[in-house]
Amino acid sequence: MSDKKTAPRLFFRVSLRAAAAVLAAIVCLYPALAGASAKYVFLFIGDGMGTAQRNAAEIFLAGKRAHEGDSATRDAQLAMNSLPVTGEMLTGSLSGVTDSAAAGTALATGRKTKNGAIATDGSGKKYKSIASIAHENGVKVGIVTTAFLQDATPAAFYAHSDTRGRRYEIGLELAESGFEYFAGGGFSNPNGKDKKQRGLTEAASSKGYMVTTTKAAFDALAPGGKAIAINPRLQSAYMPWAIDARGGDIPLDEFVKKGIDLLRGGRFFMMVEGGKIDLACHANDAASAIQEVIAFDKAVSEALAFLSECPDETLIVVTSDHETGGMTLSAAADDIMAFYGAMSRQAGPYSRFEGAMQQAAKYGLEKSMSKAREFFGLGAAETEAVRKAFAMTATPKKNRPAKSAEYRKLYGPYDPFTVACMKEMNLRAGVSWDTFYHTGKLVPVSAVGAGSGAFAGSYENTEIFTKLLEAMDLH
Ligand SMILES: [Zn+2]
Repeated sequence: MSDKKTAPRLFFRVSLRAAAAVLAAIVCLYPALAGASAKYVFLFIGDGMGTAQRNAAEIFLAGKRAHEGDSATRDAQLAMNSLPVTGEMLTGSLSGVTDSAAAGTALATGRKTKNGAIATDGSGKKYKSIASIAHENGVKVGIVTTAFLQDATPAAFYAHSDTRGRRYEIGLELAESGFEYFAGGGFSNPNGKDKKQRGLTEAASSKGYMVTTTKAAFDALAPGGKAIAINPRLQSAYMPWAIDARGGDIPLDEFVKKGIDLLRGGRFFMMVEGGKIDLACHANDAASAIQEVIAFDKAVSEALAFLSECPDETLIVVTSDHETGGMTLSAAADDIMAFYGAMSRQAGPYSRFEGAMQQAAKYGLEKSMSKAREFFGLGAAETEAVRKAFAMTATPKKNRPAKSAEYRKLYGPYDPFTVACMKEMNLRAGVSWDTFYHTGKLVPVSAVGAGSGAFAGSYENTEIFTKLLEAMDLH
């Protein structure tokens, strides 16, 4: 090939690269406050997600790859586990083991409080969140969750309430917040406890929010203005389970991608919650928890794609509010193929099987067992524990010793037969659980980008707030 021909091509290629660099500079460089380092900040909170939950998802993905014939190692399957800075965090609240309200308050406001309190001291004194402080400083704010929009974790970033149950009032505060983007689940209690109040969608619309509940309207959302993007299909105002995802659902990562599209062009702060990891872990449902962690991790990947565009000004922090269930992985989990086999066969979330087992007495043991094998892919598992649990499930609720310590330890507030089948299936994969509640375990923190170095080490959950303030140069 002659020089004459390559020269224009080379020039063209160089020009393209220069144009890309200029474009990146236009997209990234924003005349922000002097000294501000992190201009685009993502805080990912996996509700109930401890180290074992992250590892379980990693083993599942490794097993999946091995199953599909790819060589796979246990490590580095999750984007969140590949971030260069790692730390760990204490999660206790003023009540002891934390709930999501006190934990959300600690992360959002830097203050320890009592369980149940949303960005207050539990007695009327309000604390200001990192999101509110950022917003007052001209930073656009996005709040994304798989839970309903007024659930404790997201609420701690925009509302104040001494008790987390005041969902209608919390929803009104959402409408008043002025934050640019809310997305994921819908409104719980949209007309108040008496069902007679003005709808929360209407309240938000009157404050200038565009509220979308269809895929077409979601796709049409464009920058400028404020938006509330709600998944077309909801389950008790939550987004549908990831293990149960269908066409027409908008996955969490798409809500994050849209948030980036809507908020970019200026500084922004986005909080993204994987809210159903916690629900699955409460029920000791490892298969559902794993799918929630994977869906959450895809959302982290969206943020990482943005970081690759604006590496010097983007900060991504991935953490949790507390661990749920006391999940433990034993040596059996090292068999990644067996682990994947067990965890990929479950047909849906625990709650669907629980629903079916309302007919357990009518079905009898044999038919219920065959339904369990079908749903959990259990093999021929009719252990003593499973039989005992079935007898309890077949007993009318009012006749069960549901308050006895033994019953609560075995089944918590869940259907006994469902829990026993999941336990059996989980044990085969090397997954065991301590409790149906939250634990005081340390939770991991992973970070990358501008100011991420501060997130290394071991510290209290309240420090996330102070480290974010520092990284964003807000005071
Ligand atoms: Zn919980």
